[in-house]
Amino acid sequence: MSAESSLRGDIVEVGRRMYARGYTASNDGNISVRLDPSRLLMTPKGVCKGFMSPDMMCITDLEGRKIQGDLDPSSEMLMHLEVYRQRPDVHAVVHAHPPTATGFAVAGIPLDRAVLAEVVTTLGSVPIAEYATPSTRELPEAVRKYIKAHDGMLLANHGALTVGGDVFSAYFKMETIEHFAKISLVARLLGREHLISREEVQRLEKLRGTYGVKPPAPICADGSDVGDDAACQVVQAPAGGGLRLVPDVAGGAEIRQRSAPPAAGDEAEIRLTYRQLSALIEEAIKSLR
Ligand SMILES: [Zn+2]
Repeated sequence: MSAESSLRGDIVEVGRRMYARGYTASNDGNISVRLDPSRLLMTPKGVCKGFMSPDMMCITDLEGRKIQGDLDPSSEMLMHLEVYRQRPDVHAVVHAHPPTATGFAVAGIPLDRAVLAEVVTTLGSVPIAEYATPSTRELPEAVRKYIKAHDGMLLANHGALTVGGDVFSAYFKMETIEHFAKISLVARLLGREHLISREEVQRLEKLRGTYGVKPPAPICADGSDVGDDAACQVVQAPAGGGLRLVPDVAGGAEIRQRSAPPAAGDEAEIRLTYRQLSALIEEAIKSLR
């Protein structure tokens, strides 16, 4: 089997798995791989990723001009082209709308908290690229900010994007993001999320690469501002003072900190659940009586 026909088969297989796992509905999502230094193999526009055949794929150049294929290339081709331009190390791009991760993208909550050791070591943080109209030039521009330092990101009010050295590696990162999102959602529903301390995150960072998957950039030493072109990963991990896990529920209130503790105490953001807020108000009313 030629390399090209094997890659066509791999895209079909990944599309089938994405659809079977509910990461895409109807014709959503798209997949591409580098065929050689000057050509890409890409899923076509307007087909369900669960029911593709190898002959459906399009071949384009790195400018997006169609070289071969009966169907037109993916409507998100511009986003794929931008990734390949920015990341010579990337050989495959996967885009889908996995429901839990996309829920975080809709809520505007990045998956950037240090809560799972294996995510810190393999993917690092999963930021949210700002909202852009799908299939327009806005989307590659939104992705550009994060793609150099991240192998996976959420797309605000849209879905998720992952990249890798081959199509299975990019697809597995999509699985990791959705799995991470599900676990984060359950922890938040249960009412508490113990974060991995900054010190432990530094230990985990040294283990990056030992599991075969390594994030493309280090964790930001001062994570509050990554600028327009992120060169490091923001991971929310509070100082633990020797503790490996830091409870995020203190005295009934969750104290949320960026990577570095705030300089002044009054800069800490305190978040209360509805129940906690009601209890505080009741308490205050009682003391007034
Ligand atoms: Zn999409």
